[in-house]
Amino acid sequence: MIRNLRHNSLPIIAFLVTCLILGMVQLKVERPMLMAERLVQGSGWIEILLIGIYAAWITNKMLDPSQSARWRRITWTIFTVVFFGQFALGLAGFDKFLMTGKLHLPIPMMILGGPVFRGQISFMPILFLSTIIISGPAWCSQLCYFGAMDNLAAKGKTEMKPVRNKFRTKHILLLLIIIVTLLLRFFGVNTNLTTAFAIAFGVAGIGIILLVSRRKGKMIHCILWCPIGTLVNYMKLVSPFRMYIDDSCTNCMACTRHCNYDALGKPDILNRKPGMTCTYCGDCLASCKTESIRYKFLSLQSTQARNTWIVLTISLHAIFLGLARM
Ligand code: SF4
Ligand code: SF4
Repeated sequence: MIRNLRHNSLPIIAFLVTCLILGMVQLKVERPMLMAERLVQGSGWIEILLIGIYAAWITNKMLDPSQSARWRRITWTIFTVVFFGQFALGLAGFDKFLMTGKLHLPIPMMILGGPVFRGQISFMPILFLSTIIISGPAWCSQLCYFGAMDNLAAKGKTEMKPVRNKFRTKHILLLLIIIVTLLLRFFGVNTNLTTAFAIAFGVAGIGIILLVSRRKGKMIHCILWCPIGTLVNYMKLVSPFRMYIDDSCTNCMACTRHCNYDALGKPDILNRKPGMTCTYCGDCLASCKTESIRYKFLSLQSTQARNTWIVLTISLHAIFLGLARM
């Protein structure tokens, strides 16, 4: 079916998917989840309609490879401003702007650290896993609020030099997080100390975004520091979406400067496949004169595979915009 869909029907699909999921949430979840519904009863339906229109509009923009990097940056920033704006209002005492009325730490590492520390799976890891199954690494290209900040900081042309020892560093960091969290749990360290540990990790991450990513033009926080990014790099393989470089590639390396995720170094290009840190963001597509960088999804042609990924990812993005709050 996807094979035969016309290009201009894709925004309509994004609209329908977004409205359907948000509509189900509005109908089935007892506590009002949409912000408008919390403020004025019944107005959640208007919000759903507006978010659906937004999903259709952004899908239309992002389908054009020459526009997608710009619109990805704009929409990801909007999501982050809305998310942290609501968080700030929640902190200021307006409980309606918080998901449960209780504050949580908005640090991606908590998706891993929280369940390891408590020894039980909560809503966030399930949500995270669902997004990976639906659209692979879209979490790190369109859905995470810290990623949006790193993306903004790294805006502009990237340093050509690859990040040294990328994989060794990120694997060590991931292991350290798990070991430290297990130790905190084993010794029954109190919540104040564990919270301080998580906050320190988050603040260090923001420091890396502001000081290192901005200077290098690469998303060093997401490439090296964030353990969730490392998990995404590998777990994305459970989704059938892939990216590859076809044989029309001339090895000119023009795309390298357009990848903030450091996934288009010389070995990756010669290997005809973006590196493990690729998030399928698509920022590199327009830089390739021979259109050699392609999406793959089952037996679909690469343009259809990309369109499918855009519809799914933008629908998720729009749903998160409507529902994501602490
Ligand atoms: S690497 Fe971490 S901070 Fe970056 S986008 Fe992914 S989850 Fe978010
Ligand atoms: S290789 Fe292309 S699609 Fe992959 S992360 Fe880099 S810019 Fe995005």
